[in-house]
Order: sequence, then structure tokens, then C-alpha cells
Amino acid sequence: MFKKILIANRGEIALRVQRACREMGIKAVMVYSEADRDAKYIRLADEAVCIGPAPSSHSYLSMPAIISAAEVTDAEAIHPGYGFLSENADFAERVEKSGFTFIGPTPESIRLMGDKVSAKQAMIRAGVPCVPGSEGALPDDPAVIRRTAKAIGYPVIIKAAGGGGGRGMRVVHTEAALLHAVQTTKAEAGAAFNNPEVYMEKFLQNPRHIEIQILADQHRNAVYLGERDCSMQRRHQKVIEEAPAPGIPRRLIEKIGERCATACKKIGYRGAGTFEFLFENGEFYFIEMNTRVQVEHPVTELISGIDIVRTQIAVAAGEKLPFTQRQIQLRGHAIECRINAEDAYKFTPSPGRITTWHAPGGPGVRVDSHAYTNYFVPPNYDSMIGKIIVHGDTREQALARMRTALAETVIEGISTNIPLHRELMVDASFVSGGTNIHYLEEWLSQRER
Ligand code: ADP
Repeated sequence: MFKKILIANRGEIALRVQRACREMGIKAVMVYSEADRDAKYIRLADEAVCIGPAPSSHSYLSMPAIISAAEVTDAEAIHPGYGFLSENADFAERVEKSGFTFIGPTPESIRLMGDKVSAKQAMIRAGVPCVPGSEGALPDDPAVIRRTAKAIGYPVIIKAAGGGGGRGMRVVHTEAALLHAVQTTKAEAGAAFNNPEVYMEKFLQNPRHIEIQILADQHRNAVYLGERDCSMQRRHQKVIEEAPAPGIPRRLIEKIGERCATACKKIGYRGAGTFEFLFENGEFYFIEMNTRVQVEHPVTELISGIDIVRTQIAVAAGEKLPFTQRQIQLRGHAIECRINAEDAYKFTPSPGRITTWHAPGGPGVRVDSHAYTNYFVPPNYDSMIGKIIVHGDTREQALARMRTALAETVIEGISTNIPLHRELMVDASFVSGGTNIHYLEEWLSQRER
């Protein structure tokens, strides 16, 4: 096992990985920007290295700064967390070329799955069902583009091969709007992702977002840890996640889960990963794979009893998965609310000093956050400051625990989206379960009126 790991991230996920290291008897090296200098998890670290000024382009995204921090501290491996460099194949490659272990898949896997066109083609080959669409990237020929859209049937969605974070997508309802939409998306994709390639998919009208968590080792073993429902989204960003997904028959989950695990073996995938699907009328349609740990991984940890971050570290060190698919037992129901430093209804960011931080507790309540009373939320990064995750025997119990947890939570000095979560936890449609990906935005627009 590694003796020392460098954690190339910040905030709650940096603390989450630090906790896993501590539990495993591994020393944790934290890196931080000047904006994060005073964070408590930096002081708790075995070692900490400042890697640059506040802007992430000069700190958390600086490959040379991170690799030299690993060199000077004699770390053996680098955990990238999520966001920042976690899905950057060039970074994974540079980490390995510099003699460190990258805690994640191979650069080849990251590259394959990072390009949505090649990812989709690999999934089709591996027998994973995909959204009907163009075969690969769209050509320039307008006649071919029109024919492709006609064959798929309107509405269609034009998506950038290199897109991410909900950007680089455009829905087209009529042939009249088609060519212009393709041109605009191409131009935007070229500028934003340095890759002008776009592809076309059927636009599904009312799907749910269901994803499968997988874990794979370097000995061609792969398992799935059930699913998560992440349909509660705003601007393609997840707000609430839960596991299992309400109302989806287990045999459907098992069937798609097996396909994902088999696909991992076929592509030689290692580490943790998530297959994201849209689910409509009883069918799963693959949209993309995330080759890293996800924000919402705790809901799966709570129902499976498996520590995903610990397992990532163990398999990166060459260990075999310590369980087989049959040994994985899912129990109860878990829900996660992302706590953001933002106005609950206008969504304007609200950085600044937290004057009171009172976290909830009690049976089945987990809080993953690096924040505390007197913590200063820097304006430079994502607005998420933590997550409240609850577990219950049933969905009803999990909902009741989440309501209690949210009622107990006191955060003063900044605005948070806790009031929004409190309302959603008693919303009739959310409480009955199975809302689609448009539900939250529709709910918000109704609320405004
Ligand atoms: P990103 O990598 O930017 O997150 P995804 O491909 O995962 O992009 O899509 C993000 C979201 O966009 C999905 O969760 C869904 O809400 C919507 N979306 C993507 N593709 C389709 C589609 N074919 N039909 C309907 N909605 C889609």
C-alpha cells in the first residue's frame, strides 16, 4: 500500500480523500491555493504545499505545480478528486511519466471516454444501449446532416464531442433551424473545448437521469454498486441525488449494471467510474461516462456499505476488489442534498465568512463538508460547500431524516440553498418519487409566478 498520497483538489472532496487516507494509515499531502491557505483541512494535513494564487488556472489546474509538489514531498500517488484535472488524460499521463501512480483509470481510458463520440462508439461495441443518433461525428455535408436528423426524428440535440458540465448542447425542433444550430454549436465547441466536432442524438422529452456506479481493479474484475437517480437538476447541474431510483424494477437495474461491468472489462477500465443514462419508458440510453469519483458517491456508500474512495486507492495500489458482485448487498435508501453558497431562489453566488455553522447529526445522517464557523468561502471556486446525506430503511424514513437534518442545520453569514431543499423535501411530486430531469426547473418557474 502507498505510504503517502498527494490530494490534488480542494474543499469537501479534498477532506473526504484525506479522511480515507487517515483511515488507511496513509499520509496525506494537501495542496492549496492562496485563497484556501487558512482552511482547517489544510492544517489537519500531514503536509501541505501552496501551489499558487487563487485563480484555479494558476493553482488547482497547474500540472507542473502539482507534480512538483508531489516530488518535493515524496508522495507516491496522486488522487485527483472530481473537477479540476480529474478527467484530464494529459495530466494522468504526466503523473505516471513522472513516476507517480494516478489514482484513477489509465490515460487511454480517460481519453476514450472523455470524447463523447468515441465513448458512445465504444459503448455500442460493448453492448451498452445508447441514445439513437448519428454514427459518430457529423460531416460538413448539409444534405447528410438533414438526412441524419430526418432518420432520427425531431426534436434532436446537437452535442459537442468534447462537451462537459452541461455546456455545448443545442436542441433543434425543426429542419429550418437545423443547419444554423449545427454551425453555432461547432463554433462554440471549437472555442470552448478546442474540438469543433459535434454529433446528433434524439432529444428525449421527459427522461430521468439514472447512473450506474462501477468499481474495477487491474485484474479485470468489475462490479456495479447499483444506481443513483440524479434527475433533480438545474441547468444540467445536479441538486439532489438518491439511491436506489424510485420505482425502477430491480431486474432492469441488474441488466444494465451487468452490461456496464462487462463494458469495463472489455475496455480494461480500472478504478471508480459512473455510466450516466437517460431513462425513458423503461429503457436506458447511455449519454456519457465519468472516469472519476463523483460528488454524489456517498449515497451509494450508504446503501452498499462500501467505501468508494478507499477502494479507489486500494485498486490503484494493485489490490484486487475485496468483494464479488454477489457479495454486494444494497440496503435501505439514501438521499443527498448539495449545499451551495448561493441565494436559494435567485442562485446568485454568496461567498464570504460563515459566522455560524451548526451541522445536523443523529442516526443515519452524514455531513461531508470542509466548512465550519468562521470559515471564509472564497469567491474563486464552485459554490458547493458541502453535502448532507441521510440513510434510512425506507425512502420515507430517509425523507423524514433529511427534513430533520435540514431543520437542524444553521448556516449564518452567507446565503445557502438550504431553504430550497426544505421546500423540495415536502413537495408532493418529489416525495412520491420518479420526477424527470425537467421537474425542478419547471417547479422553480412556477414558484416565481
Ligand atoms: P455533460 O457532460 O455536459 O454533463 P451530458 O451528455 O451528460 O453532458 O448531458 C447533460 C444533461 O443534458 C443530461 O443529464 C440531460 O439533462 C441533458 N441531455 C443530454 N442529452 C440528452 C438527450 N439526448 N435528450 C434529452 N436530454 C439530454
